[in-house]
Amino acid sequence: MKELNIKIMDIDKKANFSEWYDEALKESEILDSRYNSKGMFIWLPYGFKIMRRIKEMWDKLFQDAGIQECYFPQLVPIEYAEQNKSWWEGFKEEGYLMVTGKNKEVQGIIRPTGEPAIYPMYKLWIRTFSDLPLRLYQTTSSFRYESKSTRPLIRDREITMWHEIHTAHATKEEAEKEVDLHIKLWDKLWDKLALPVWKVRKPQWECFAGAVGAIEYYTLFPSARVMETGSVNNLGQAYAKEFDIKFKDTDEKEHFVWQVCTGVGARLLAAIISIHGDRKGIIVPPEIAPTKCVIVPIMFKGKEQIILKKAKEIESMLKKENISVFIDSRDEIAAGRKFYEWEAKGIPLRIEIGPRDLEKNQITIVRRDSNEKVAINESKVIEKVRELLDNIQKSLLKEAEHELKKSIVDVITFHDIKKAIKNKKVARVFWCKSRDCYDIFGGIGDGIEGIGTDLDEKTNGKCIVCGKETKARLFIGKSY
Ligand SMILES: [Zn+2]
Repeated sequence: MKELNIKIMDIDKKANFSEWYDEALKESEILDSRYNSKGMFIWLPYGFKIMRRIKEMWDKLFQDAGIQECYFPQLVPIEYAEQNKSWWEGFKEEGYLMVTGKNKEVQGIIRPTGEPAIYPMYKLWIRTFSDLPLRLYQTTSSFRYESKSTRPLIRDREITMWHEIHTAHATKEEAEKEVDLHIKLWDKLWDKLALPVWKVRKPQWECFAGAVGAIEYYTLFPSARVMETGSVNNLGQAYAKEFDIKFKDTDEKEHFVWQVCTGVGARLLAAIISIHGDRKGIIVPPEIAPTKCVIVPIMFKGKEQIILKKAKEIESMLKKENISVFIDSRDEIAAGRKFYEWEAKGIPLRIEIGPRDLEKNQITIVRRDSNEKVAINESKVIEKVRELLDNIQKSLLKEAEHELKKSIVDVITFHDIKKAIKNKKVARVFWCKSRDCYDIFGGIGDGIEGIGTDLDEKTNGKCIVCGKETKARLFIGKSY
């Protein structure tokens, strides 16, 4: 798969983010983007192992919370799609239509989102109050014919490893509780992914038509652009009305259900890669690293066998403790080259065993994140590896949180909004929540836009546009 004579990656991530990102994906063998269909790529085994690990985490979280996994077809029949008029209007332009047979009849649309596939079935399944709540999720792909330039994992035409939860409830209050639960579940996951996200409330006109509201998750990239990484939508009864999803309650009357949907996808891996990586490549947080340690024996003439034997001993000690590890024993490649290769792939720890280590009964452990080296006695290897993995996980999150915190600046003039964004920051301003004032931000130009409001509304201030008193603060930046 890879030539033995590998290139060494050395790119300043902040100064040349685009180049860094493409190179990091390639060198780490996360994916191959040379597939001859724009906006689609191949998940390579290493990348897919990381993504699988993340999926296992959300599977466990959702299933422990009683949300069950299911799977719906990719093809949405045209009559289902047309049933939901506003949805169809929005997606038919960027949808992949399926035509078959001699007459090239349109059979359906390859799902851009799940609602028109899922909700006609919810209508069949939900009859009485005893069928509620109905709480399902699936992990699948979505297809949108993006006209903007695509970029693997950030903006794709096939959005892969997308999970969506769709729940239906008897009351508005239950639906609200479900929204809170989804947010809590995701908060747990962000920590495991060492990913600082910030939550914003979307203005009403940017939510699904008829929805009560939406919370979106954002991450900040080294390019200073923000990226939506997922959303939790309180749909109210908007879709229930479009798809006629009703239940007979204890009062013997029929009522529309209340619905919630949440979606998050592989985009979050783009954030993990971009936020934690450095000039040598990606850094995989230990919690999701398919391989936590690589052992590189430093071969010395005449001592090869004894060094390799020691490496195998260390490997089996770690394996016994369920720490994923392997030995890079390729003898045609120099140790230094091996270091670069595993660094590019972001394996959290490297263990070196050389003749000098052998003499002293020790091994050397190198952290991928800080490059710090420690020599420890063999007997301490398990303890030390555990401690270092834990430290790396925590320090990646801490560092990234710190970076995010200092990147959000409060400003009170339009001039300062521009200045903040030019300095690769996100601006936060007081805003009266009116559409008229909101649209002014979109008019600043250069791709600058309102992102959503802070969930924290404890501070008073004056709308930056009209001067009206408000507690709402809007984030403004450039987004992917
Ligand atoms: Zn205003």
